Amino acid sequence: MQYFIDVILPIPLEKLFTYAISQTEAEFLRPGMRVGVPFGKSKIYTGLVHQVHTNAPVVYEAKEIDRILDEDPIINSIQLKHWQWIADYYMCTIGEVFRSAVPGAFLLESETLILRNDSSKVDESILEDDEFLVFEALQHQPLLKVQEVSAIIDRKNILPVLNRLIEKGVILLKEEMYDQYKPKLVRYVKLGEEYLDEEKLEALLNDLSRAPKQSQVVLSLFQLQATNKKPIKISELEQASGGSKAVIKSLIDKNILEEYFIRTDRVNYEGEEDNYALKALNEYQQKAFEDISKSFQEERVTLLHGVTSSGKTEVYVRLIEECIQKGKQALYLLPEIALTTQLISRLQGYFGEKVSVYHSKYSVQERVEVWNNVLAKKDKAQIVIGARSALFLPYSDLGLIVVDEEHESSFKQFDPAPRYHARDAAIVLAKLHNSNILLGSATPSIESFNNARIGKYGYATITRRFGNVLMPDIELVDLKEQSRKRRMKGHFSERLFLAIQEALEEGEQVILFQNRRGYAPIVECTTCGHSPQCPNCDVSLTYHQYKKQLRCHYCGYHMALPESCQACGSPTLDTKGFGTEQVEKELETLFPDAKTWRMDLDTTRGKHGYEKIITAFEQQEMDILVGTQMLTKGLDFRNVSLVGIMNADSLLNFPDYRAHERCFQLLTQVAGRAGRTKKRGKVLIQSYNPYHQILQQVSTHDYDTMFKEQLYEREQYKYPPRNRIIKITFKHKEYNRLNEATEWFAKALRTTLGGNVLGPEYPPVARVRNQYLKNILIKIPHSQSVVKTKLAIKKIEKSFNSVAQYRSVRVIYNVDHI
Ligand code: ADP
Ligand code: ZN
Ligand code: ZN
Repeated sequence: MQYFIDVILPIPLEKLFTYAISQTEAEFLRPGMRVGVPFGKSKIYTGLVHQVHTNAPVVYEAKEIDRILDEDPIINSIQLKHWQWIADYYMCTIGEVFRSAVPGAFLLESETLILRNDSSKVDESILEDDEFLVFEALQHQPLLKVQEVSAIIDRKNILPVLNRLIEKGVILLKEEMYDQYKPKLVRYVKLGEEYLDEEKLEALLNDLSRAPKQSQVVLSLFQLQATNKKPIKISELEQASGGSKAVIKSLIDKNILEEYFIRTDRVNYEGEEDNYALKALNEYQQKAFEDISKSFQEERVTLLHGVTSSGKTEVYVRLIEECIQKGKQALYLLPEIALTTQLISRLQGYFGEKVSVYHSKYSVQERVEVWNNVLAKKDKAQIVIGARSALFLPYSDLGLIVVDEEHESSFKQFDPAPRYHARDAAIVLAKLHNSNILLGSATPSIESFNNARIGKYGYATITRRFGNVLMPDIELVDLKEQSRKRRMKGHFSERLFLAIQEALEEGEQVILFQNRRGYAPIVECTTCGHSPQCPNCDVSLTYHQYKKQLRCHYCGYHMALPESCQACGSPTLDTKGFGTEQVEKELETLFPDAKTWRMDLDTTRGKHGYEKIITAFEQQEMDILVGTQMLTKGLDFRNVSLVGIMNADSLLNFPDYRAHERCFQLLTQVAGRAGRTKKRGKVLIQSYNPYHQILQQVSTHDYDTMFKEQLYEREQYKYPPRNRIIKITFKHKEYNRLNEATEWFAKALRTTLGGNVLGPEYPPVARVRNQYLKNILIKIPHSQSVVKTKLAIKKIEKSFNSVAQYRSVRVIYNVDHI
């Protein structure tokens, strides 16, 4: 009898590939185990066993596998089903799902780069001969390709050697160069050694009698230390003593106080303290909790709609507690950007070591560690908090999935395939595990709220902020009127300017939101109207003043700001529009004493840029934070009393059917950062269009009207949730060929599917990285089978690919495009 396995390869192949194995191997191998297999001329890939069987492939002769990589499956059967669903639904291959679902370190392949591991000292004596050869080669050059290693040890099958070298700490794979996720440092303060003695302290206070502010700080610190065994943060001391940073600093300079740092490790919870007790829910939270539990009993997906700062997180915590009591695993999914230390330490505070964090900022090793803990069903990973990729961990017994901020469009993976929506894939995963699933948001997506409305989902709501804090007071500021009355200071209306001034005087913090980064989106010549364009993309370059550069936000191209217009030569270049950098610059002149910081892609790019800024702002080391939508997400700052939106119009004018929904969500979320404690928060929204219905709805917190109007529009224009949509993007570097190809495809689609095919059309940015783009949009009404439609599209793609001149045109499917 001959034995075979079907293998999933991490590449876009329509079919599984079959390999020959021996009888012993057949007895050993199970689905979900990895094997090294040859593919193509000389490549070795890591493949995943899908099935062991005895049917020889018909059209090719099965090659033998190279080797077996696992002793036990690393992927379980539920995962394989889930992957298959994703591949079918999102029109990609299961190999693409495989590639994106597992940590890169699991996918050793022949194109992997091998690097010297400089962080560990190698004991040469433990190396076998072939291992030593690789080690030696790496002393002379920083990296090797797999083929080169193959040549060095004169063997084709090098995976075992590489694996051993990794284990011995000699080499790293390219993916392993990612930055470690470093622990956060918190500043603490204590009295200098010599003042621990009471007499000395007495003498010191005498000395300081002419500096009442300083002696107040010293006294407060003394009291704090007496009543509190824990280290004292500088911010705590500031609060307790009423002293300023400058006073504390001068005491530190005089060595009266001593400053020190402690790591609060984010990844490995050190668990020095007992976990906090869960908070008692208030009546509104309790009611929501009961409604959710009831809905769970009916096995329904449930939506928790609670206004910002209503205490949704505490409700999740309750549900998680219940879930782990039953010994089941819990998954807390968040959009990448909302995954903050604030939330992580909150959960670790309750659940201690049971919490594992999983997201792309972590190094491959750390991700592998979490993966293995989940696989082994360890206590350590009973609760996983993570971004969308956390969906793919090898859970065996999920009891609860929470999808927080479910409205966030960043749950949808845009590139590469699988272009899945993590919320929707989570719902499917919950079904496979028979698990509960809760979607939470202050501003639910139109889809989810509609599902709740028609009874498909259960629904629970909290309409009040916790602690009876009022919803922020939102005021619209008419920029047209303000500039007519000459009340503008740069991009600040007088209203906003005065409000910032007032907040600063009160010692409160301010958040300013501007949706664009950089200094100005466009540089334009006032003589001839020319504005510098990216040579690779069809967009104007954005001006970044800090580096005096023009940059493309699509491909990263940059050039120095020219002295004069490249078209007409006049030195009359001027900027149009504005970004975060310009807001920051203007603040420097308007509020020279305020400490201002900027949070956008440019300032958070470094390893921990994002965390650092949040921590500093949290610890009140700055007064004003200017940022893009990064600062909307789930952040809980105590001292922010004012939020200003610099210009709401840019949000309303996107050419996208979701622009209005998104604008409502974004503004409501940013506004929600204001006044989360006692004092009522103030939000000022500047706009040239203050009577726009969406801005009115934001200012009156009127989600329901927003929902009704948006749903009506969606129905009128046949968009989701009324219809499903599939967007097909075509890419090619030749303009004409792309045009022809897309016309051909659209015609074929219309012949099969009839009227609901739009395009082909150029998107607003029609060329990116020298590739032209064109889209076709397919709308699928409820009466039409989605499965059949997808099959029809795939069939058309087959014929398309058989036309020689079209074959090089890339076809990209985006199902439920958002
Ligand atoms: P949301 O997630 O709805 O924005 P949070 O869960 O962050 O709201 O709660 C807002 C604030 O109220 C947090 O600082 C939280 O600690 C506090 N809070 C919420 N519920 C309770 C409770 N039951 N007891 C004490 N404090 C609570
Ligand atoms: Zn010009
Ligand atoms: Zn570009």
